[in-house]
Amino acid sequence: MSDKTIIIGAGPAGLACGYELTKKNKKVEVFESSPFIGGMSRSFDLWGQRVDVGPHRFFSKQKEINQFFSELIKEDFTLVNRQTRIYYNQNFFEYPLKLGNVLKNLPPFVIVQILWFYGVQIVNPIKDPKNFEEWVTNRFGKKLFEIFFKHYTEKLWGIKCSEIDADWAAQRIKTLTLIGAVKSAVFGNKGNKHKTLVDQFAYPKNGTGELYERAANCILENGGKVNKETPIKRVLLDDKNQKVKGVELMDGVVIDAKNVVSTMPITTLIKGLDNVPEKVIKAVDELYFRNTILVYLEIDQKELFTDNWLYIHSPDVKHGRITNFRNWCTSLNKDKKTTILCLEFWCFENEDIWTGNEQNVIDLAKEEVYKINLIPNHAKILNSKVVKVPKCYPVYETGYQEGLKTIVDFLKGIEGLFPIGRYGAFKYNNQDHSILMGLLAAEKIADNNEVDLWNINTDTEYQEDGKIKDVLAQ
Ligand SMILES: Cc1cc2nc3c(=O)[nH]c(=O)nc-3n(C[C@H](O)[C@H](O)[C@H](O)COP(=O)(O)OP(=O)(O)OC[C@H]3O[C@@H](n4cnc5c(N)ncnc54)[C@H](O)[C@@H]3O)c2cc1C
Repeated sequence: MSDKTIIIGAGPAGLACGYELTKKNKKVEVFESSPFIGGMSRSFDLWGQRVDVGPHRFFSKQKEINQFFSELIKEDFTLVNRQTRIYYNQNFFEYPLKLGNVLKNLPPFVIVQILWFYGVQIVNPIKDPKNFEEWVTNRFGKKLFEIFFKHYTEKLWGIKCSEIDADWAAQRIKTLTLIGAVKSAVFGNKGNKHKTLVDQFAYPKNGTGELYERAANCILENGGKVNKETPIKRVLLDDKNQKVKGVELMDGVVIDAKNVVSTMPITTLIKGLDNVPEKVIKAVDELYFRNTILVYLEIDQKELFTDNWLYIHSPDVKHGRITNFRNWCTSLNKDKKTTILCLEFWCFENEDIWTGNEQNVIDLAKEEVYKINLIPNHAKILNSKVVKVPKCYPVYETGYQEGLKTIVDFLKGIEGLFPIGRYGAFKYNNQDHSILMGLLAAEKIADNNEVDLWNINTDTEYQEDGKIKDVLAQ
């Protein structure tokens, strides 16, 4: 029997795992369905410049994650000053929110409403908030929820805030409170930065995907294999369905393996297995994802706005975020005199915007970018390109954990199978979480580490408080 580990997917999770395993002299073969390395975190050349799949900021407080970055990127990074704002009602609000800026941009009667509803919430909080709306309202009051959370969140997830599990809020905005935001606005942060208040990050000079290109190269140098454009059809188990035996490619070829690390969508993984219990199939059928359509536009101007990206809360346009790649680092734009913007539209896979003609979404993006005055009327759009990212947001609909637990319990019973990653484990992972899952999966395989991979990115600590420059400076 082969002692090889097969890794499905050459994104951050799969490549971190392969990199670590080959460093430990283990046999590894990676299979990637697309022609690209890096998954959702890849970078690519566009109109003579370099871009990512939307904004990709790398940040972690965990030493092993920063070590992974540092070993591979070495000195080839730059520190980017983060500037991101919220666009709402024809105003730009600094993000993280700053008191003075909020007061300046909102009419006095709205400020009174904010304070009133905040007071109401303090006096009469919702006990045991179950959904996103209740959770945020408890923290910030109803008015702030409506202005700064409702529209954006509903654009992103495509369901009402009252249908989104409180889990998601707890994972993302856990320690931020109105009082905290006010304190940080008045006194500054002084070493006590909340995860969303981090203002500088390390960024590979050749785009975020450089990290993963280098990881793939190291796997090859260490004797592993990386196959592109080779999708895995299904994972094969032994006769008792208790142990991994290998994988089957789309053309029917079977490859033996002792371990399979899967970063393919968890739904596809389960549906490919034989003899899955009915209750697990039922649970899988209830999980669903949100897709992203990215529209890249090349504008004939150098200076449009100063942010790395903007959150577009206004409900009168469909896109929800816009990245300005000119504001990341000079090595991306390669001295070109134009600016590449990237607008993000979120949708389900059965919506017209996803299935229809690409030209329609390009036309929409062009119309919207002028409509909210992000580019002047005289600016020309020289080029456009659409990139579609399927299944990139696992939807945390209220109660989703129950079904997921049924699936996880079933998967835990299969020896040699390690489902990890963003859609691989149905976790709203950033790069750092997926890298950590990959590194720990490698330790489990090579060193029998007892860690429970399903607990990563569900614990109460978030990864973003650290400073990669501390590790890089060592
Ligand atoms: C628009 C956008 C912005 C983001 N911004 C940030 C950010 O600022 N900071 C941050 O840290 N993270 C960000 N992320 C998240 C980050 O991209 C992901 O967390 C990370 O890429 C997840 O890595 P992964 O390996 O788990 O999954 P993926 O990157 O999705 O990789 C999975 C790989 O598996 C392959 N695959 C799927 N099915 C098969 C199959 N059957 N056979 C073989 N291969 C298969 C896919 O092609 C893919 O390459 C962003 C994501 C998006 C979409």
